[in-house]
Amino acid sequence: MVLEDVHDRPLLDLLISVTDRCNMRCRYCMPREHFDENHEFLPKEDILRFEEIVRVVEALIPHGLRKVRLTGGEPLLRRDLHELIRQLRASSADLDIAITTNGLLLKRQLTKLHEAGLSRVTISLDSLKKEVYQRMGDTDAEPSIVLEAIDEVQARGIPLKINTVVKKNVNDDQIIDMIETFGPRQIPVRFIEYMDVGTTNNWNLDHVVSGKVMRSRIEKELGALQSDQAIHKSDVAKVYTTADGWKIGFIESITNPFCGDCSRARLSANGNIYTCLFANHGHDVRGILRMGGTSDDIKTALQSIWKRRKDRYSEERSSLPTKSKVEMSYIGG
Ligand code: SAM
Ligand code: SF4
Ligand code: SF4
Repeated sequence: MVLEDVHDRPLLDLLISVTDRCNMRCRYCMPREHFDENHEFLPKEDILRFEEIVRVVEALIPHGLRKVRLTGGEPLLRRDLHELIRQLRASSADLDIAITTNGLLLKRQLTKLHEAGLSRVTISLDSLKKEVYQRMGDTDAEPSIVLEAIDEVQARGIPLKINTVVKKNVNDDQIIDMIETFGPRQIPVRFIEYMDVGTTNNWNLDHVVSGKVMRSRIEKELGALQSDQAIHKSDVAKVYTTADGWKIGFIESITNPFCGDCSRARLSANGNIYTCLFANHGHDVRGILRMGGTSDDIKTALQSIWKRRKDRYSEERSSLPTKSKVEMSYIGG
């Protein structure tokens, strides 16, 4: 039986945050002045064990879950992540198991992750220019490390996409460079409108470049874009093909929200289910898992959470009062 929420949206995708820690401090996600040595990350004992994550996923598979995405924080900081993938794969041969990573630790872990059953990879990369990359990520790391990981993923034939958050006057002059670098290699780049997630990134509409503006700039340089038919209704990115036949995507949470078909739930590293990226509270499932709850108990809890879901934050954002929201590094982006 497929689970549907108040607006008849099924639960098809689960984003799983495996850690709230990260080895970068992207200005738009974990600004260093907030995520410094005084920041209290989750204590180890609060973080779900792999077996606990698998129990949640197994409870959702009979209700239509088709995809999980391992994320964070930086998921590759979680020790032996391939072991989680192996357990998830053992639960279901058909489950789509994806990861979103900044790519810095990917090259050395890729063999194990792939052999364990990873289906696809999304690598976040905001610029090819060292200075811009390091400024946006507030990091000393070299973008060449990420490029090597990209080469390796592609060499193994693992489906790969790139995520680029676009911030006005910071990296919006890099868009063409990204397309011209990855387009000929058949690697789709998805440009993400800078979002008002969490409360620490000092978000302001003036920092957003809309998908529409990005497309018109791209068309000036690269010719007309052709809009593709969506593969799944719930896909977050609108995909276009350039005149050269390269795929690019736009995630327009600010100017073109897609709540109507949103089929995603999130599981935080400490076992709270969030029914929206912009939610201000989650629903505890760790308690059920750790108090000897049966699989039926977990199923019943998840069903009741999803059935009550009404979230449409991106569509309603301008009319909603400002409220405290959880950070993306905690809830899983
Ligand atoms: N650390 C991993 C990474 O960066 O790929 C996974 C977690 S990160 C929170 C997931 C995605 O969220 C990344 O592609 C990142 O660029 C995006 N993201 C984070 N903060 C954002 C914001 N304020 N607006 C838009 N996208 C954001
Ligand atoms: Fe870390 Fe990813 Fe957030 Fe950047 S976007 S700070 S890499 S969790
Ligand atoms: Fe889904 Fe919430 Fe994003 Fe709307 S704002 S698309 S409901 S996660």
